[in-house]
Amino acid sequence: MKAIAIRLKLTLLYFAMFATAACLLSLASWWMLRRSVDSTEYHDLHERTEDVQALLAQQSPNTSIEDMQKIFASIYTIRDDGKWLQVKDQDGNWLYRSRRMLAENPDLPLPDGLPARGTTSEFLQGNHYVRTLAFPIQVKGKRYSVQTGVGLNKSMALVASFCTNLLVLTPAVILLAAVGGHYMSRRALRPVANLAAEARLINDRNLDMRLPVPKAKDEISDLALTLNQMLERIDRAFVSVKAFTGNASHEMRSPIALLRTEIEVALYRPRDNEDYREILSRMHDETIHMTNLVENLLSLARADGGVEAMALMPIKVNQLFDQIRQSWGKTMQLSMLQFNVEMQPDDSVVLGDPSSVQRLLSVLLENANKYTPPGGSVTLTAVLSRECINIVVRDTGIGISRDDLPRIFDRFYRADQTGDRRSRGSGLGLALGKWIAECHGTELTVESELGVGSSFSVSLRRPNIDSRELNRESNLHLQRRS
Ligand code: ADP
Repeated sequence: MKAIAIRLKLTLLYFAMFATAACLLSLASWWMLRRSVDSTEYHDLHERTEDVQALLAQQSPNTSIEDMQKIFASIYTIRDDGKWLQVKDQDGNWLYRSRRMLAENPDLPLPDGLPARGTTSEFLQGNHYVRTLAFPIQVKGKRYSVQTGVGLNKSMALVASFCTNLLVLTPAVILLAAVGGHYMSRRALRPVANLAAEARLINDRNLDMRLPVPKAKDEISDLALTLNQMLERIDRAFVSVKAFTGNASHEMRSPIALLRTEIEVALYRPRDNEDYREILSRMHDETIHMTNLVENLLSLARADGGVEAMALMPIKVNQLFDQIRQSWGKTMQLSMLQFNVEMQPDDSVVLGDPSSVQRLLSVLLENANKYTPPGGSVTLTAVLSRECINIVVRDTGIGISRDDLPRIFDRFYRADQTGDRRSRGSGLGLALGKWIAECHGTELTVESELGVGSSFSVSLRRPNIDSRELNRESNLHLQRRS
């Protein structure tokens, strides 16, 4: 089914409401008029019956039927002959019958045959619609049936003219309701239309623009605020993507330019083998740096895209440490660093994604290796607690200043290094490490003192706690990133 536009929906709703109200009001007022006309007529008829009762009460109980007939005739023939009246006593003797009543000759039961509230009936006499009330009365121990009548033409004309007015007025009100509904829905939706017009002006070049928030606290101001918050997030993401792309291109340009210079210098004149070896070795270092850079960039891009999946599983700490000792021992030795790996006395296990945990430790060890001068030491250790195992990489390197500490986890951030070529980094390692830690439901922390050394630690959970919860946290993190 085709969706109806909200403005049309509102118009129809207003229209339906007003139209129903107008119809109900018309019906109710017609019904109330009929009721009050009916009750006035009933009272009229009843009053006349009371007149008859008063007349009968004035007579002595010994008055004969004939005298009674004369008294009624003398009073009612003059006063009320044009009207409808007949009176009968309990024995069936007529005391009075008006001409009009005689002409119609309606049935009048004996008083005992009439209900206490009387009974009404209607008939058409010539052009007159007549309503009668036959009522039982009791006067001085004797019962009578009194039937009075009243012409309905006047009240019928009144009701009819009222109906005609209603029939003209109601459609007019309904038409007004339709126009009013259209106007009201336009008015009600105008703030939304204004908001949409403002939102349409925002594009990728002016993402810092915000929608005006109405002063009144209502749904529209709520919507504007929510959209502004969304714009804020998009703006921040957009700026960070732009910065990431800019920084990434810049980072890639330097090693490529270096390689090119090395090659151009090498080709400038013929050289001996030793020279070529030296140049190739420098080029090799450069390609390693480029490979690391590209790998880190790729991982962060995957992390942003939410495609880097983490499968948490038990990892034996001693096994992990052993692998690390084997792969990093030689490198540390070449850097003239003492590398200590403190193995655990028991077979401790942590929950983690093996390759990611290894990657995180590689980042930390590479930094320790880069930023610790020869003769220093790097220690990899694990501190056990009831629920977690805290893995720590400590070095006796150059340390990090207080100013740099809060920023070292930012992408592409590098503290000012005066170190040699070895220490060239991309500023992505710790950003990646921080992301890996967050995916494991924990964080990467640092303590450092300039000139004394640094200590990076990450607390991984032991598998005896609910691993499903851990997986969920990790997935949540991945979703949040995406
Ligand atoms: P980089 O590739 O530059 O090492 P990282 O993100 O790994 O990038 O580190 C960011 C910055 O943090 C580094 O440039 C360095 O200044 C500082 N840093 C990281 N680890 C250490 C450490 N062990 N000792 C001293 N400074 C460190």
